[in-house]
Amino acid sequence: MLLTGGAIMVIVSIGVSWFLAGKSMEPIMESWKKQKQFVEDASHELRTPLTTVKSRLELLLRDPESKIIDKYDDIEPALSEVNRLNRLVADLLTLARSDSNVIEIEENTIDIKSIVENIIEPYAEIGEMQEKKVYTELSPAIIWGDEGRIKQLIIILLDNAIKYTQAGDYIKISTLEVDNKVLLSVEDSGIGIKQENKAKVFERFFVEDKSRTKANGGTGLGLSIAQWIVTKHNGTIEAKDNMPKGTKFIVTIPIKASSKRIDKSAY
Ligand code: ADP
Repeated sequence: MLLTGGAIMVIVSIGVSWFLAGKSMEPIMESWKKQKQFVEDASHELRTPLTTVKSRLELLLRDPESKIIDKYDDIEPALSEVNRLNRLVADLLTLARSDSNVIEIEENTIDIKSIVENIIEPYAEIGEMQEKKVYTELSPAIIWGDEGRIKQLIIILLDNAIKYTQAGDYIKISTLEVDNKVLLSVEDSGIGIKQENKAKVFERFFVEDKSRTKANGGTGLGLSIAQWIVTKHNGTIEAKDNMPKGTKFIVTIPIKASSKRIDKSAY
């Protein structure tokens, strides 16, 4: 059967639109799949601690005569799961809001050195209790950014450094301005991160050792939030080996991009 020029045109244009539609759907499908996986992982993570709390509390309710102090072994794990759940929900909320771009990032002139000085004391105290040396090496590191979020970033990195070190280890936090950049580094002499996992640790819910993370109250979301904060400041974050052992997180935030905005704000 012979096809007319018009019919050929129609068939070709249907084919081209089908091909283009298929192509343009790919990123949407990919992002939908990721979103679905994220929600599934999130609800799984939420269910486990909730089940523990529920069963422990039910146990308490079944025996109203006993004194609470005798039930310490039931209450203590329930409480620590509730605390983990609170952190998890807070982290999930931050990430969900960051996905939908509804979080406003404040823009002020801030010195990362002062932020570290303001929050380091409790870490030095915990370090002392756990026989870990926590110390700083700080130079002024002024950027244009969100003080609360930069504080949150430093807390995530310091909490991890405390979690993944043992007695006898050290944790060092330093700030520096170099080549139009601010460098913030948090290094420790702890257990380290396997080479193949250095990039993966920034993925949501990625943990190297599930049981250890659970035992120390981790959620697997801290570094995803850290990466989001750094990206919002036009910076980068990477995990490196710390010689001879441990981990070094290096955050770089450009001063140039920041000071451009400072110039603008002056008018
Ligand atoms: P969490 O610490 O709550 O598990 P994070 O997203 O903060 O979640 O970290 C993800 C994973 O990266 C951790 O489970 C751990 O395996 C690894 N990690 C993070 N910081 C360190 C560190 N300082 N030393 C060794 N491993 C680390």
